[in-house]
Amino acid sequence: MRGYMKRKKTFILAALIVIFLFLSACRGGGDSGSDGNFSQGETSVTESIVAAESFAGMDSFAAGTESSVMAESFPMTESLAVVTESFPVMDTYVTLTIHAEGKEQGREILEEAKGKLEGLERLWSVTDEESELYQINHSDGAPVTVSPETREILSFALDEAAETDGALDPTIYPVLAAWGFTTGENRIPPPEEIQELLDKTGYEKVVLDGEQLQLEEGMMLDLGAVAKGYAGDMLEEFLEEKGITSALLDLGGNIQAVGAKPDGSLWNLGLKDPFGEGVFASLRVKDCAVVTSGAYERFFIGEDGKHYGHIIDPDTGYPADNGLASVTVVADRGLLCDALSTALFVMGRERAAEFWRERQDFQMILVTEDREVLVTEGLEKIFALDRNHKKWDLEVLRP
Ligand code: AMP
Ligand code: MG
Repeated sequence: MRGYMKRKKTFILAALIVIFLFLSACRGGGDSGSDGNFSQGETSVTESIVAAESFAGMDSFAAGTESSVMAESFPMTESLAVVTESFPVMDTYVTLTIHAEGKEQGREILEEAKGKLEGLERLWSVTDEESELYQINHSDGAPVTVSPETREILSFALDEAAETDGALDPTIYPVLAAWGFTTGENRIPPPEEIQELLDKTGYEKVVLDGEQLQLEEGMMLDLGAVAKGYAGDMLEEFLEEKGITSALLDLGGNIQAVGAKPDGSLWNLGLKDPFGEGVFASLRVKDCAVVTSGAYERFFIGEDGKHYGHIIDPDTGYPADNGLASVTVVADRGLLCDALSTALFVMGRERAAEFWRERQDFQMILVTEDREVLVTEGLEKIFALDRNHKKWDLEVLRP
């Protein structure tokens, strides 16, 4: 129950604070064109940092109700209607905002979008006994036939698990459950129990052959690190099929920007301060996903007074605790962002920087417990610290 309350609070915070937009030229800012861009893992940005900084005074916009912030933020155009819907699904709180031909059409599209998310929830809930994942997790070592969606997300997660040397591991579920993160009844498991449970994990033991999936007995999957990213990509595709070219999808803080604002200007996102209320920085984007992982999202304070977060280091079986407070990943696909933000959070600052230099197909923002902010070069010109956070150290990572 406590976990649920904490989660609920987080959802509301996420909806109110993590993201908000405001009018493009935003009281004199330099964002009148669409010259800033992020796509295919590269940026082509011509705006100056000075222009970005003129957007920094956005904290006052964070106050207000979710709907007024969202509604006010969209420039009204004569022909397009802004339609927003918020609802809980997939263990998080989702806010979808689209520009449609008319209100009615927009509402119908969002209703269908909601149904699609509920469909994914029915597939991948770890607790719903009817879900496909529940069947997989209780297959006792027998092969099971899986849906195309499960095959797609799992095959991606297994690939990224290998790429990240197991920092992302979709088989971490038995350990996660022992810490109580799935039920909200948190506890610190004894070291022997963690060791035993670690034997039941290991992405390399998963056999996925076409539609056939086989886990060793006792192994269980958790798609929590990637499901929202998949959902964002799926919704983007669906909206594009419906002819929607401008939308902002907030899946519990996973942001998917479909196109730009109707006037061609960039979306202005607020990045949540991992240490408190409000935002610490702004990021202006279009046509991309922006996904954050952090131990402040779901955690508990143990009897020993320590803070234990929901992202587990698969090497140790303990919550990752390496000096990072949050990791934000920006790339064209939500699924990639989601997988990497979780993995980079586990890796820690040095390994994450090294990984970025090797891969170069995403951009990232790391915030350390010491209030240092590391931003990769591709975001340099579209990122700005909030005016109340100017004292944080900012470093640009270069290849
Ligand atoms: P995210 O918020 O995307 O970083 O995902 C965190 C969620 O992924 C947790 O709540 C767990 O359900 C699951 N998880 C925790 N640690 C890991 C890990 N190392 N690899 C994969 N999934 C994880
Ligand atoms: Mg993730």
